[in-house]
Amino acid sequence: MKPMNGATATLPRSAGVPAGQDHEELVVETGSRSGATMAVAIHSTALGPALGGVRLWRYLRDSDGVADALRLARGMTFKAAAADLDLGGGKGVICAPSAEPPAGDERVAILKDFGDLVDSLCGRYITAEDVGTCPEDMVTIASRTRHVTGLPAERGGAGDPSPFTATGVQAAMRAAAKVAFGTSDLAKRSVVIAGLGHVGEHLARGLVDAGATVAASDINPARRAVAISLGAAWLEADDALEAECDIVSPCAVGGAIDADNIDALRCRIVCGAANNQLADEEMADILAERDILYAPDFIANAGGLINVYRELHSYPAEQAKELALGIEETMMRVIARATREGSTPLEAARALAAERLSFV
Ligand code: NAD
Repeated sequence: MKPMNGATATLPRSAGVPAGQDHEELVVETGSRSGATMAVAIHSTALGPALGGVRLWRYLRDSDGVADALRLARGMTFKAAAADLDLGGGKGVICAPSAEPPAGDERVAILKDFGDLVDSLCGRYITAEDVGTCPEDMVTIASRTRHVTGLPAERGGAGDPSPFTATGVQAAMRAAAKVAFGTSDLAKRSVVIAGLGHVGEHLARGLVDAGATVAASDINPARRAVAISLGAAWLEADDALEAECDIVSPCAVGGAIDADNIDALRCRIVCGAANNQLADEEMADILAERDILYAPDFIANAGGLINVYRELHSYPAEQAKELALGIEETMMRVIARATREGSTPLEAARALAAERLSFV
């Protein structure tokens, strides 16, 4: 699965893919310049090219990075389908060679290697930024391939998607609040944001502006000053998910809600930006049993994808914002469907996406 330097292993549909997953293609490569392990997983191109960001992250094992790419690519298929975009689902992962984020020449070598990998897929996969990468990184990738989005505005791109993602998450919160509390008004609602990164920061600002009481946490202690400057309280990362509040918003990496902490949640709603917030699907059932309303991640966090999509279809930022605000209505439909069908919101969201996929 991991060939010698520079070579590429393309696995046909379902070969080498973990049980329960169903992907069109998986490419794993060792970068010829950098020696870094990198992967692109294409889950589906049924609705269009598979667009999904590239995650630069330190994994314990390279195989964990590959598994992450597969899982995240699948989520992108559902996200694009539910958001009514003509895109498939894919994801890139670069396994960071050391704990410190790569910088300078090393970073450039890694990103150029990834650009070559993307280019070899001839447009079936289009990349963008994700955790650990930024619009400037997309410029480096663009030196090797044209199949890249999320470029800075001065390079004709849609820029940082995080504000649009935050807009969509806040819209999703309004829908969930309407169902849970009878009003979509977030004023005076208490919200805990777990992960004060790009999205978390924009979300905190938006919620404070809406009159919510916000507390934030991050494993990076330097983010404390950011929380305070926004008018948010600070929580230690270990305490955040279990804090008593109206809404918990996981905005760090995946798997935040797991078997170890789910019983300790003291909120009414879980609604955040992180992909794959639930460690496994059983968590959706447990949340429902506990009467905690889960706003499915791939519906709530589609704002960023909606924004990069405009690089392919040339519509203005204002329209992307309008579409991100429309996530409130989509989330209402999902929750209403779950109520009607006696399913969890996660199942209802999947059904919505699957319906669109079944028409192609
Ligand atoms: P980011 O890297 O800017 O921020 C993530 C933050 O989480 C960092 O500050 C990090 O220190 C912190 N963190 C990591 N582990 C933590 C933990 N255990 N507890 C508390 N904090 C922790 O990433 P981002 O762009 O803000 O994205 C956040 C999440 O949203 C990711 O899962 C990403 O895939 C998802 N997402 C982002 C976008 C986007 O537009 N950026 C779009 C869709 C989904």
